Amino acid sequence: MSSTPLPRQVDIRKLIAADTIISAQEPLRNFARLLDMLEARDGDVEVNLHFYRREQGGKFIDGEVRAIVAVLCQRCMKPMPLAIDSTFSVGVVWTDEQAIRLPKDLEPYIVGDELQDVRDLIEDELILCVPYSSYHEQLDCADNYVQPELPDTPVESKPNPFQVLEQLKSGK
Ligand SMILES: [Zn+2]
Repeated sequence: MSSTPLPRQVDIRKLIAADTIISAQEPLRNFARLLDMLEARDGDVEVNLHFYRREQGGKFIDGEVRAIVAVLCQRCMKPMPLAIDSTFSVGVVWTDEQAIRLPKDLEPYIVGDELQDVRDLIEDELILCVPYSSYHEQLDCADNYVQPELPDTPVESKPNPFQVLEQLKSGK
């Protein structure tokens, strides 16, 4: 596992030509749009990216993103952990016309001629993984916790006879 952040301003064309794999850990706080949806800024996103071309044509990036983020439970309004573990695949194109020609089930990633910050791509994927509203599992939710039925016997504990004995011995 690597602890390096994602490289900034990469040449996608070169990465694809060299069949590059990038493994990185990017701090959550660097994803500003995502942070708007979260309750905590701490933590890292684990990212794996593969830039490659297929023999039958086409250039692609396959990616994996993993993170544990904190979102607000919409029932009890308390933070709850949300595990993100997702894979995605995009077709790399340079123009809108090329994007239209991609198969419909393949997301286009239009890179143009400038260097790209792939954090935008990662952030889009992360945002897709955060549901519009989240809820604790019923038993974990502060607002929905059903108290177990109390037993019929009084709950107050009787004095422990040994403690009483100790107190008598010590003369208190
Ligand atoms: Zn809750």
